[in-house]
Amino acid sequence: MEIYDTHAHFDEDRAKTEATLARAHSAGVTRLMAVGGSPELNRAAILAQSLAPDATRLALGADRDQVGGARTNEELASAVRTLHAAHACAAVGEIGLDFHYSPETKDAQCDLFARQLALADELALPVVIHTRDADDSTLGVLDEIQWHHDAPRGIIHCFTGNPSFARQLLDHNFFISISGIVTFRAADNVRESALVVPDDRLLMETDSPFLAPVPMRGNENEPAFITHTVRFLATLRNVQAEDLAARTFANAVSLLG
Ligand SMILES: [Zn+2]
Repeated sequence: MEIYDTHAHFDEDRAKTEATLARAHSAGVTRLMAVGGSPELNRAAILAQSLAPDATRLALGADRDQVGGARTNEELASAVRTLHAAHACAAVGEIGLDFHYSPETKDAQCDLFARQLALADELALPVVIHTRDADDSTLGVLDEIQWHHDAPRGIIHCFTGNPSFARQLLDHNFFISISGIVTFRAADNVRESALVVPDDRLLMETDSPFLAPVPMRGNENEPAFITHTVRFLATLRNVQAEDLAARTFANAVSLLG
């Protein structure tokens, strides 16, 4: 079984990242996307990509936690543009909105999100979107963008919304990525949403080092643990794990290479 983990974060410890990538490969995770979002996460993603260039795709961006710091949104977006000029990326990300943890910066988050959506459109790259407790604002910002290309827009990563939000994002030409949260006992709405995503729009991810799936909860998550999520989601969708892995792998390749 070959699996594509479309969303993993790393840290800047080279030996640790090498070991993590080796365990991923042994577990059948033959491709993954190393995702940035802050200066530290971007550097770590670049390092991970350099350690396994054939198996690793790169996403660089400025996430919602970057607003309100030392740099203005204009400076943040310009730094992302510079990163993309220097590194061959498969996507811009992660970007997006989180009103659960940071409701006080709503407007600034929407502004930074919009700037990077426009940049991704200009670069003809998909985006990796985080959206939490911000359904209406996410759709509102997406609707304001003057898109210049018709390709799939990108990934709604670690989807935790309800089925109607999932349907709206599918209508906006996004893939939906399911993380280990789908294995959590209390995550009935994530399971409901995972069932409304059609086969050709479904992706899988760890969001490591966060959100280790059952039965690994309490451990630091890593790409190798995605096997548990694949088996769980296959049972939920009533398909073979090998078929789910192959289908989501092909979907990810079509979007990210
Ligand atoms: Zn992430």
